[in-house]
Formats: sequence, C-alpha cells, structure tokens
Amino acid sequence: MRRKSRETRIGDILIGGSHTIPVQSMTKTDTHNVWETISEIHRLEEAGCEIVRIAIPDMEAAESISKIKKEVHIPIVCDIHFDPRLAIASIEKGADKIRLNPSNITEEGWIKKIASLAKERGIPIRVGANIGSLKQKPKSAVDALVDGVLEEVRILEGVGFSNIVISIKSSDVLVTISANEKIASLIEYPIHLGITEAGVKDDSLIKSSLGIGYLLREGIGDTIRFSITGDPVEEVKAGFTLLRSLGLRKRGLEIISCPTCGRAEIDILGLVRKTQRDFGNVVVPLKVAIMGCVVNGPGEARDADIGITGGNGVGVIFKKGKVFKTVKENSLYRVFKHELQKLVSKEEKSLNISDSFR
Ligand code: SF4
Repeated sequence: MRRKSRETRIGDILIGGSHTIPVQSMTKTDTHNVWETISEIHRLEEAGCEIVRIAIPDMEAAESISKIKKEVHIPIVCDIHFDPRLAIASIEKGADKIRLNPSNITEEGWIKKIASLAKERGIPIRVGANIGSLKQKPKSAVDALVDGVLEEVRILEGVGFSNIVISIKSSDVLVTISANEKIASLIEYPIHLGITEAGVKDDSLIKSSLGIGYLLREGIGDTIRFSITGDPVEEVKAGFTLLRSLGLRKRGLEIISCPTCGRAEIDILGLVRKTQRDFGNVVVPLKVAIMGCVVNGPGEARDADIGITGGNGVGVIFKKGKVFKTVKENSLYRVFKHELQKLVSKEEKSLNISDSFR
C-alpha cells in the first residue's frame, strides 16, 4: 500500500498523496548557456520528463531562470548550494521549487527570508542528506542520513515552513533503501527517490531500478529520478520503464522481445532497434512483441497488442497471440510498421492523450 504523504504542488504538478508519480531529470548543460539549456529541456519534455532541475551556481545563472521558464512547459527546480542570495533570486525569477539545505546557511535571518518568500509564492523546498557532506565517518550511514534530513526539516519547521520535499540518496543501494524506509516511517513529507552517482547507463539502470523499484513496491516515493552519467533523456526513458514495470504508469510502447536462441529465424535486435527508432516518441500505451520463431513466438507473447515473427522467407504479424497476417519476410517490417501506426492512431483517437501519461 502506498505511504500516505502530504500533497505538494510543484508548478502545475501535484505530488504526494495518491497523485501519479512523476519522472524527473536534471539538465547537464551550463545554465549560463540559456538556449542550450532550453533545448535540452525540450528534448526532456519530448521524452516525457515532468519536472526538471537546473543548477544555479551563481547570480548570472539565477538571472537566466525567467528566460528559461518562458520557453519550457514543465516545472523548474533550482539547485542551490550555499548562497542564500541565489535562493532568493531563484524564487523571484520564477523557480517552481528550490533544492537547498538550510543547515548550509549560517544566518537564521536568511533562512527566514527564504522560507517566507517560498511560502508567499507557494513553492516547496527540497532538503536532503548526502553521506559525502558529513564531517566524520558515521557509525551508521543510514542513521546519519536520516538524522541529517531530520535536522534540515527541523530548521525549516523552526521558521514556520512546512512545504517540504525530502530526498535521501546514497550511491549505496542498500543504504538508500534503509534510510528511505526509516524516514518514511517518521515524517509525512513527500519523498523524491534516486540513487546518487549511480554511474553510466548500464550500472545506473541496475542500481536505480533495484533501489527505486524496491521502495516504490513498498509504497514509498512520490517522484523519481534515475541518475545516469550521460544523456538525461535516458534518465527519463528509464524512469517510465520502471514505473510501467511496476504497474504505476502507462506510457509508450512496451517492447517484448525474446532473448533469441538456436531457433531464432529473424534478426530480432535489428527489428527492435527499428521499432524503437520509429515509435520511440509514442505516448499511448501499447504492448509490442518481437519474437524469434513462428512456433513459440506468438504463444509466448499472447498478451501483446501486436507482434511479429518470421522465418524461412515468411513473416507473420500477430495480434493477441493469433496470426493476423502472413507476408513475405522481406516486407515484414514495412507491413508491421504500417499496422502498428494504425494501432497507435486508433489509440490516440480513443484516448485523451493527457490520460495516457498516467
Ligand atoms: S521465441 Fe523462439 S527464438 Fe525466441 S527465445 Fe523463444 S524459442 Fe527461441
């Protein structure tokens, strides 16, 4: 059962409570380079990203927030480290949420100013703990992370601010799981999930899916981000694949492809790649099977809305496990693409597109 967390608004997105779990990412561009940043956010939006974080290292970056906001369609989270002036400027320039640890700000006057402005604008503050920021090596990493977050929460609550989002991330999957389980049992604030510094795509997909997936399955987590050293679009794709695998979201094509074996008679990988290339931006949920042999393929993928297989010069298109069309093997992909396109258009018509994001 999903943990009951407090409902929180980030721009026009609601998180917490029983709201849909949005997929986040972070730009990798230099925020000073406004157009490069906008163009990266557009690519992320196209992939389905619903909340994006940008780094605000200095006042010039903070100044660019309003320009970026004018050109993009998803809420912007501004990442501030130590300088309270950057927090104030970010909120004034239109940030939909800021990420800031108040313990990094020594003067209480500044914390009060930030909290009061965030309150006035109705924007949340995300606080977090990171094992790297602790002065001494703790006896228990889990306790140290939880205590760290509780301290940040206490400071904000102390100045009357409670529009808080929590995040506890470690590069250690098991520590991240335990720390989030513990904090989830102690406070009601929504939790953003991720495994930090999870590495390049291959490593991050495993570490993040394990950590985030385990917690989501326990009902913990209100937003997610895969951290990947590489193109942030991959973070978004991975986020949706995970949520879809857990039955929490439906979006885009789910490609079921067999691992191939000695019975495979067609080029599975080539067909998967072509399908990803041609239908990667589809939003409506459809299950597509690409199977290696006629004997086992259609039966093994009987749940699929549409599928293909083939061999010995013959290509077979099947729907829900039943043969729908037999064509020459060399025209298999062309006919399949046409049939899949028809199915996508039909689904797009019958579904409100915004519903298919859920
Ligand atoms: S569908 Fe056919 S080729 Fe693919 S794994 Fe199963 S038996 Fe092997």
